Amino acid sequence: APPELPDTATVAGVPVDTRHWIGGTRVASVRDATDSATAATFTDHSPIDGAPLAEIARGGPGEARAAVAAALEAFPGWAATPPAERARSLHAVADGVEARADELARVETADNGALLRSHRRGVMPRVAHNLRYFADRLLALGHDDFDTRGHTNHVSWDPAGPAVLITPWNAPLMLASWKIAPALAAGNTVILKPAEWTPLTASLFADITHDAGLPPGVFNVVQGYGPEAGAPLVADPRVRRVSFTGSVPTARRIAAAAAENLVPCSFELGGKSPLLVFADADLERAADLAVEQYDNAGQVCLAATRILVEEPVRDAFLGLFMDRVAELRQGDPRDEATGIGPNIHPRHIDRVDGFVRRALEAGAKAVIGGGPNTELGGTYYLPTLLTDVAQDSEIVQEEVFGPVLTLQTFPEGDEDEAVRLANGTRFGLAATLATGDRARAERITARLVAGTVWVNCFFVRDLSAPFGGSRQSGVGREGGDWSFDFYCDLKNTVTAPGGWGEARRG
Ligand code: NAD
Repeated sequence: APPELPDTATVAGVPVDTRHWIGGTRVASVRDATDSATAATFTDHSPIDGAPLAEIARGGPGEARAAVAAALEAFPGWAATPPAERARSLHAVADGVEARADELARVETADNGALLRSHRRGVMPRVAHNLRYFADRLLALGHDDFDTRGHTNHVSWDPAGPAVLITPWNAPLMLASWKIAPALAAGNTVILKPAEWTPLTASLFADITHDAGLPPGVFNVVQGYGPEAGAPLVADPRVRRVSFTGSVPTARRIAAAAAENLVPCSFELGGKSPLLVFADADLERAADLAVEQYDNAGQVCLAATRILVEEPVRDAFLGLFMDRVAELRQGDPRDEATGIGPNIHPRHIDRVDGFVRRALEAGAKAVIGGGPNTELGGTYYLPTLLTDVAQDSEIVQEEVFGPVLTLQTFPEGDEDEAVRLANGTRFGLAATLATGDRARAERITARLVAGTVWVNCFFVRDLSAPFGGSRQSGVGREGGDWSFDFYCDLKNTVTAPGGWGEARRG
């Protein structure tokens, strides 16, 4: 019997086409003799209750080749489309996102379990904003021409070609739109491979690009598992850019594949960011910042999971933190009153719990939490705070990606030790400082290894600011002109002074 083919599913009341989107058409499967004939679909489950949501097209080398071919064919036309027209198309896609924001929010919550209210009020409007921002930025792009011994230098941003975008499950459409928007604005064509745990909003987004009139092949979606669908995409020699957000081990594999073709990669990877609380800080605010780190059940790359407190205020800070945690309600992410929802998958819960078990065995103490929420079951993990952890221990060094924070202290007035602890991992994504002393904030910031430093705040991000990680937290920066520098082939044109025509005649 032929394998079951994917088609459509209804999720949270919204019809979702679960096939690939290649060259402006829905494709259930592309198989040829070189592909292993595995199942044509995989099952997507909701982390809210473990229920199956949909059968999704399971891509492989055949779909990857077809999608790159479609993106390559569409490239010359899209690249030659005047920037103002490309920008108009992106605004039309943003209009479509806004028109369907509620549906996108409901489907995303069913798929990844993040809070419905933040998808509705924060995330989906931000997706539209990402598209509009890069559309407008494209039109403002440019340096003033400059002079070399009378010759003019003119810098231009040429579209590079098909770009493969590979994204994780913790903020699916939001993270994809950071890449899609500048890639398309710049005149590239795109193949998006969303995470297999959260495939649905990418599919809705494909419909939106179609309705907005994007030409066939400009935006493509290949669904499936990383090694099956992602690996052949990043290894395809016709691809000109690879942008990846995800884990360090996957980034290594992608970098190795891209090295074969010398294709530029952008990597937004994990973190183990510190929250430094100095004795001179507004401790109420510091405690607010600490509790904020449980957002999205801790599945935020930027999360400041290592709280580093100056010794004299440790107990006062901890008291304020505990007051706030007591008010945090865990439950169904569709419920307005819920402050913390489920984690993504039972396998992920096992991984999170493994880190916590090993930390407890090594002598850590769980001030709160320390295991799954047995009342809610399945994929819900209790907000956890661990003390008595050593700087070189696994729980302090490795990204847990769950609602698990550690608390360490540094001696009164010892900024050197605070910085040593803060910088003492292989990551360098972000850092947050709570201090009432501006001079101290400047001194500490200058010494931190981090792509973003927040002082007495968290998560505020302007799209024109560079975003990314140092050390193993990433390669390159996204945002503003930095995004265009990555997605484009920059060209400098040097023109000799005067003499048009006269030189030849003379
Ligand atoms: P992951 O690396 O397991 O998967 C990410 C994506 O890569 C998925 O789409 C997956 O299918 C794909 N993939 C897997 N193997 C592949 C291969 N061989 N070739 C091509 N593609 C492949 O990461 P995850 O678990 O989905 O995401 C969590 C990680 O993402 C965390 O480490 C988190 O910190 C990081 N993250 C970073 C940022 C940032 O901006 N720095 C933002 C969000 C998440």
